[in-house]
Amino acid sequence: MMAQYVRIKAEYPDTLVLYRMGDFYEVFWGDAEKAARLLDITLTTRGQSAGFPVAMAGVPFHALEGYLARLIKMGESVAICEQVGEVGASKGPVERKVVRVVTPGTLTDAELLSDKQEAMLVSLHTSGRQRCGLAWMSVTQGRIHLAECGQDELGEWLARIAPSEVIYSAGVTERFEQGLFALKHSGTISCPLSPRPDWQFDTGLGERKLLELLGAASLKAWEAEALPLAHAASAALLSYAEHTQGRNLTHIHSLQVQRDDQLINLPPTTRRNLELVKTLRGEDSPTLFSLLDTCMTGMGSRLLKTWLLEPQRERAEPIARLNATEVLRGNDALGGSMPWQALRAELKGVSDVERITARTALRQVRPRELVALGKTLQKAQLLAQTQASPSAYLNQIFQDLVPPSDCADLLARAIMDEPSALVRDGGVIATGFDAELDELRSIQNNCDEFLLELEAKEKLLTNIPNLRVQFNKVHGFYIEITNSYKDVVPARYQRRQTLKNAERYITPELKAFEDKALSAQERALQREKMLFERILDQLQPHVPHLTRVAQAIAALDVLCTLAERSLTLNWSKPTFSSVPCIEIEGGRHPVVEARMAETSSGSFIANHTRMNVNTRMQVITGPNMGGKSTYMRQVALIVLLASMGSYVPAAACHLGPIDAIHTRIGAADDLANAQSTFMMEMTEAAQILHAATPHSLVLMDEIGRGTSTFDGLALASGIATQLHDKTKAFTLFATHYFELTELPAKAKAAVNVHVGAVESGSDIVFLHEIQPGPASRSYGVQVAKLAGMPAAVLNHARHTLQALEARDEAGQDQVDLFAAPPMPESALQATPVEDALAQINPDALSPREALEALYLLKKLT
Ligand code: ADP
Repeated sequence: MMAQYVRIKAEYPDTLVLYRMGDFYEVFWGDAEKAARLLDITLTTRGQSAGFPVAMAGVPFHALEGYLARLIKMGESVAICEQVGEVGASKGPVERKVVRVVTPGTLTDAELLSDKQEAMLVSLHTSGRQRCGLAWMSVTQGRIHLAECGQDELGEWLARIAPSEVIYSAGVTERFEQGLFALKHSGTISCPLSPRPDWQFDTGLGERKLLELLGAASLKAWEAEALPLAHAASAALLSYAEHTQGRNLTHIHSLQVQRDDQLINLPPTTRRNLELVKTLRGEDSPTLFSLLDTCMTGMGSRLLKTWLLEPQRERAEPIARLNATEVLRGNDALGGSMPWQALRAELKGVSDVERITARTALRQVRPRELVALGKTLQKAQLLAQTQASPSAYLNQIFQDLVPPSDCADLLARAIMDEPSALVRDGGVIATGFDAELDELRSIQNNCDEFLLELEAKEKLLTNIPNLRVQFNKVHGFYIEITNSYKDVVPARYQRRQTLKNAERYITPELKAFEDKALSAQERALQREKMLFERILDQLQPHVPHLTRVAQAIAALDVLCTLAERSLTLNWSKPTFSSVPCIEIEGGRHPVVEARMAETSSGSFIANHTRMNVNTRMQVITGPNMGGKSTYMRQVALIVLLASMGSYVPAAACHLGPIDAIHTRIGAADDLANAQSTFMMEMTEAAQILHAATPHSLVLMDEIGRGTSTFDGLALASGIATQLHDKTKAFTLFATHYFELTELPAKAKAAVNVHVGAVESGSDIVFLHEIQPGPASRSYGVQVAKLAGMPAAVLNHARHTLQALEARDEAGQDQVDLFAAPPMPESALQATPVEDALAQINPDALSPREALEALYLLKKLT
């Protein structure tokens, strides 16, 4: 048994091998130590090998899913080795085989996958020069993606794909490998990174495999023929995925090539700063995605996330989505036959057709999933009858919803309504589907009845009144006749056993029944397994069609969601222009607004934004807490929402071409990377200056804050000038350097705006309103007061501020920042309460006097 283990383990050196032994999965040696540590299970020993005890740990077979989920979450890969031979069928240990390998990037189990998140496997290859090839897919989707990019851009691609596992060609160049480690180290990739032998990355093989999957003679139709590095990456991607599933991936039927100039670039910093799918603290909500995602299905949520994170530069798709949403929003949408509410009600509870289809193709599907699939297909058939609408996109969706003919019918006829969880338990195939199975089952069920009938019949035929038909485990079925009737037993009775007072016989009819009955249960089970496999065979040709139905359901779900969100949150339909501009009437920050509505903390103040070829830069000043960041982010979010094809939180929005959204917003120190805040700030700003174009939107928040005043001011003005003169990107430049408000005087396309605030006494009230012109003051001390700063500090600060301002006016150099501020008159005199307190000697007071003193003090305040 151990020899068999060692042989199997040798094929999976880097994978935990869970080795089935009866009711347990066991792990041995190094694997055992690792599993014990990771899963907190007991490490024991079993027997000896070369004089040393063999370390062993194990988990009960029925608890496998839970342990598997934990291991995968920790980034481990697990090979599951089952007993495949019959126990006791041959000498030696029962035959075992690895039936599947579960890795973080190739998950297919419903239990291990998140509903709202794809598990992406990415394969990377490089020629050793500057270029990289990428191929990626989720095994539960029917699509493979290809791309090629420069090595420097790899981080951006990987951040967007957000892989669950990365494989790469080992040992091509050290630079490539080190680059990947650096991405892992910096957190850009937070998943396992495994080298694969270089020979698996074979361009010719990759191309052949892709052609085979697509059933095509050329990759030209997909514009994928001139991507040798991506072909090499797909060779390794597919063989790795096939290796884990233990079979070919026949359900991958579509290919998508992504080019870096097709998508609006959303660098990782932008995704983080704008809190698109994760908050700055790393939580799932509140984010733009959590606000948008009221989808009814996991398929919808996953598609919505893709739309949000992969907006196209080309406007055709967003326009189609917007028009479809508009139709769905209308009161008499779709001729009044199916308003979005009704569509959503239908979508509620539909099964994950996409993943069930993939599992069907991989022959891992469970009976209950097929029942759910059948019901969903019936629903899709109904939805597909929705009336034609003015939106071509919606019509296409309704057309795609038509399920493959007979699929739903086959599933309804073939599978019981409430089947067992696993085929191996039986009780899956419906009655009436297969005559032989029905008979086998009726033998089990009707055994007693048959025997009674047979007994009655034989009594009649033989005229033996005490003839009895019976069964026992040792001898099987028999007809028992007492010795008194021995002589009239018919010739067709064969003697089976002789007892003291009776003889037991068998007839050909009873023998036939016996053969049937004894093996009926076993055979029924075999037959069920065979029929189930046959149903899977029948479904295989429908896989591409089922994938299309899944995509239609997902798209319909997202469009209904966008319609619902736009109505609930009072959003409006954006329009597009080919002339560069960002024009927003009454824009709002959707997440801040929603939070304010939730906590009933006032209403959000809408602001306009008007940027075009003549006004490319806004220099934004005003007090902290005034709403600068909120305003800048809201512009970026509205631009992004419009670009994905969603309504936007504004009264109106008109948007020109956009190729990227860059953000440089005061982030937390990157302590893990040991980069100083200032270094980070400058690195990010430099990247933006290199990457931005006149079609980019750039958000710069408080640049220069990380260094000394003069350095910071000098750099900020340099960066602003460069953005204005050279880059010409649409720039929102929030700054606390008042000196920068002089820029618009020289820079034609720049304007000053500020967030309004009014002073009342030493307090400040924020208006959250963007007003033209520079801010008059920064109100820093007032804001500090709001924050609860001690009065002495505020007093010190006011004094220093006055001195600094006076110095500026008088042209002096030196101000003693740490000089004690003169005490205000009032501060020198003790208050009546203080006087009274000074009089009190607590040790000398009786309880009653103490209480009276307290009343007195209270009166004095
Ligand atoms: P700044 O960047 O100027 O320091 P923020 O943008 O962080 O200020 O805004 C501070 C707070 O003010 C926000 O948390 C939000 O609650 C509130 N706020 C900002 N903008 C608005 C607005 N337009 N309407 C209502 N409240 C706002």
